[in-house]
Amino acid sequence: MSSVAVIGSGPNGLAAAAVAARAGLEVTVYEANDSIGGAARTVPLEGSAARFDLGSAVHPMALQSQAFKELGIVDQVDFIVPPMSFAHVIHGGRTVHAWRDLERTGAELGREGAAYTRLLGPLAARMDELADTLLNPLLKVPAHPKTLALFGAAAAAGMGLKELASGKCERAAALYAGCAAHVAGGSRGPANAGAGLFLAASAHAKGWPVPRGGSQAISAALAGQATSRGGAIRTGIRIESLDQLAEDVVLLDTSAESAARIAGRRIPQKLSKALGTVRRSPGSCVVHFVLSEPVPWTDPALSQTATVHLGGTAAQVGRVERQARRRPAGKPFVIVAQPSLFDDSRAPAGRQVLWAYCHVPLGSGADMKAEISSMIEQAAPGFGDLVLESHVVTAKGLEAQNAALVGGDISGGTMDLLGSIRRPVFSSDPWYLQSKGLYLISSAAPPGPSVHGMGGWLGAKSMLRREFGIV
Ligand SMILES: Cc1cc2nc3c(=O)[nH]c(=O)nc-3n(C[C@H](O)[C@H](O)[C@H](O)COP(=O)(O)OP(=O)(O)OC[C@H]3O[C@@H](n4cnc5c(N)ncnc54)[C@H](O)[C@@H]3O)c2cc1C
Repeated sequence: MSSVAVIGSGPNGLAAAAVAARAGLEVTVYEANDSIGGAARTVPLEGSAARFDLGSAVHPMALQSQAFKELGIVDQVDFIVPPMSFAHVIHGGRTVHAWRDLERTGAELGREGAAYTRLLGPLAARMDELADTLLNPLLKVPAHPKTLALFGAAAAAGMGLKELASGKCERAAALYAGCAAHVAGGSRGPANAGAGLFLAASAHAKGWPVPRGGSQAISAALAGQATSRGGAIRTGIRIESLDQLAEDVVLLDTSAESAARIAGRRIPQKLSKALGTVRRSPGSCVVHFVLSEPVPWTDPALSQTATVHLGGTAAQVGRVERQARRRPAGKPFVIVAQPSLFDDSRAPAGRQVLWAYCHVPLGSGADMKAEISSMIEQAAPGFGDLVLESHVVTAKGLEAQNAALVGGDISGGTMDLLGSIRRPVFSSDPWYLQSKGLYLISSAAPPGPSVHGMGGWLGAKSMLRREFGIV
């Protein structure tokens, strides 16, 4: 039987292992850490009784993923969908709500509602086609050209909406800017607008769910798909060179830089250079909290969502995000996840877990706990009194936790227009490393970051086609 090695057990690695095992190949996953899941892992920290999502906590893309549908993950994992997908705090108690229900969102936005629903309504209505287009490589003939055209026009309008931030659409623009800041980290242009729109539209399609048990539930379900068909997973093994492996085919769920190092001279020099010099997003600093009570938001409606954005108007978010690439911001844009409001399995009885992160310069060792806590305190006075534990993971620390997070970049490389289509090189088969049996299948390859497993799924299918003629 032909054998396949998967290096790394993030959602892309595990999805690839499941596809290969289903095809009847002998698969072994090699993971450097002692536990599987990569940045989709839920573990205790430093003796805490709570379990923390080290990376992903809220999973809009999981519900859109063709891979997760085909592998049965959407049915196996209990995805809890809060009634409000996300909220944005402009200042103190001045908040905006993105309900899953678009009409309700529009109604609350008052005179801005029509512009918002006109922008997002058609996209939310075509979300399956949109996901099919954007979670596949962009360098191919689109399966849904009409939807893509609609999306392109909306992205252009979206950029305009952002410019109106200080004018009549301040609240709608803030909602949208918070979504754009998730992926793009302050870069401008159509890819930033597109990423923001896709996330915002998903809020009004299937919502922004938290998996019961944390992101580990997704990783465990993916691993089960591989191991139930004979796949093996070996943890605590870091692969530095192909010489460590006996398998015929190697799928790399690693950073682009690691892929270049591991592949060594097996791949063309030009490709090796491209992998070694990918452009990066900023880093992130994450703080994990255990609280004695839910966050006392000034706006009590914020207890109806798992995701809160803190950061002011769209113009302020954009400014702060651009600044964060160069130096840590005094008042950063902060993304908060509060999953235990919806999943009581996550913290000891009566306690809450919450993570919050902000962007910082790539590779920064800055501890942003004070700045992040202060942003939460402004929207929820008394927050500090509820903190029982806090664990800071700096951008540097993220890379130490997971080698794929180079410099604390959680996107696998920048997601501007060029970074989206040259990922890692311009190619109709971007996973193939131009050398027999070698593939890059992580978020450093299309379609990029988020927990959807599509890089692994598409990369493994490319491998089956090219190496074994299986379509
Ligand atoms: C703080 C943070 C918050 C996030 N929030 C969200 C969110 O809310 N929603 C969302 O959808 N996404 C979120 N993401 C992004 C998402 O987690 C990633 O895009 C996704 O996990 C990428 O999957 P992957 O399989 O490509 O890589 P990863 O999940 O990074 O996994 C890579 C794995 O490979 C292993 N590895 C690397 N090199 C080697 C080697 N040489 N040998 C052996 N093993 C190796 C690593 O240890 C790791 O386990 C977040 C990420 C972070 C870090």
